[in-house]
Amino acid sequence: MEHPNEATVSEKELLEAGYRKYDGEDMSIFYSRDICEHAGKCVKGNPEVFEVGRRPWIITDNGEVNHTADVINQCPTGALKYIKKEK
Ligand code: SF4
Repeated sequence: MEHPNEATVSEKELLEAGYRKYDGEDMSIFYSRDICEHAGKCVKGNPEVFEVGRRPWIITDNGEVNHTADVINQCPTGALKYIKKEK
C-alpha cells in the first residue's frame, strides 16, 4: 500500500506551507484549505474524524491511527498529511 500523504517533511515545514495541525494522541493530522479540492474522500472514508461543518472539522482521536492513515492516503490532492507519533 502506498503512503502518499504520510508527511515527508517536518511539522514545521507543513505549518509554514499553510497547513493547520489537528493534534491527537497517536498521530497529528495536517490540512491545507488552499490545496483541498473538496473531493470528499476523507469525509466518506471516516465521517467521525472528518466532518464538514463541525468545529473542529477534524477530530483526530475519533479514529484508529492506521485506518485514518489509509483514509488520508486516499486524498488525491495532498491537502491532508499525517505524522504518526512514536510510542
Ligand atoms: S480528500 Fe483531500 S481533497 Fe478531498 S475533501 Fe478531503 S482533504 Fe479535500
